[in-house]
Amino acid sequence: MGSNRLILDNKNCPQILKANTIVIKVGSSILVDPIKNTIKQDWLNSFLDEIAVLKKNNKKIIIVSSGSIALGKSVLKLTSKKLKLDESQASAAIGQIKLAQSYDLILKKYNINTAQVLLTSDDSQNRRRYLNIRSTLKSLLNMGIIPIVNENDTVATEEIKFGDNDRLAAQVALITEANLLILLSDIDGLYEKDPNLNPNTKHLPVINEVTKKMLEMASQSTSINSKGGMITKLEAAKIAMNGGCEMIIANGLKNFPLSNFSYKKEKFTRFIPKDDIKTLRKQWILSIKTKGKLFLDKGAIEAINNHKSLLPAGVIKAIGKFERGDAVEIISENNEKVGQGLSGYSYSEVEKIKGCKSNEIEEKLGHPGRVALIHIDDLVLS
Ligand code: GLU
Repeated sequence: MGSNRLILDNKNCPQILKANTIVIKVGSSILVDPIKNTIKQDWLNSFLDEIAVLKKNNKKIIIVSSGSIALGKSVLKLTSKKLKLDESQASAAIGQIKLAQSYDLILKKYNINTAQVLLTSDDSQNRRRYLNIRSTLKSLLNMGIIPIVNENDTVATEEIKFGDNDRLAAQVALITEANLLILLSDIDGLYEKDPNLNPNTKHLPVINEVTKKMLEMASQSTSINSKGGMITKLEAAKIAMNGGCEMIIANGLKNFPLSNFSYKKEKFTRFIPKDDIKTLRKQWILSIKTKGKLFLDKGAIEAINNHKSLLPAGVIKAIGKFERGDAVEIISENNEKVGQGLSGYSYSEVEKIKGCKSNEIEEKLGHPGRVALIHIDDLVLS
């Protein structure tokens, strides 16, 4: 394929090389031709060639792609910059098929499968739906599939909308515990002042904190197809940094966008979090008020000490009124609290499946359940 193929090594791409899971957000302004409202095919070929290199290097990749509304506009022959809600929802419905298909067709040539995932901000705020999204995304990643994520524009009303894919991408990065979020945009990062108005302003390569001053200064984007501008990128940076995920803003306009910023020395901005994602997640789980207790047998205590998920088989007794996603205390045979975790089942379900082997869960519940009662990622030992 292209001669500009991404070469992954420590000298060129330390951030990409270090990350196991990477979320890459593609803005409409770099994917869709602003005049014709069609996919920039050469650009997408070059970008997905880079994605194939990342996959070869065993990276788990999620692409958050905008573009459905812009693509749908060309079919409906809509030209105005600001669409009415029903027009943009109709455009999104039409364009989303084309968008997902474009990624799928090219990635198939590399034997990579894709999945379409459409989300609203409501989904990540509701604990149960959050757990469902997480387990679906993680299963897809473990199967080697690339989820292509966008906002579910056809159902999103003002109240449940992200409205921009920058913040959506940051949420997806946290949900999947990604180590790196890359926003490919039509600007090469953050500047001291708006570079459109101040051509000599200083580029900022590394940010350790998103300040109020930066937020105030962030100007709205002027490109026709882009929703967010710098303000939503800074909001995304705050979400990512608070969740322990590094974020990069890079200019994705030219072909081979990842190579351009990672080793062709084009400018970009890094937003560095203070703590890593694992530490922060543990702190978060420990900070949640518990709604119940699970009493475990010796074998289960041994298993969780060996970094295994908690299975229903090891639970002797459950107390409390908890739902799926609530925090529960883990109690040993000696009645000591040994940890805390997020339950994958409600109290009434645990009552039915406690002590059961994994292959008995379906019969007891009447539907296929999950194997783990508490997934290892949701478990913190004290
Ligand atoms: N979800 C919108 C689309 O695919 C784009 C939102 C954004 O660009 O931030 O057209």
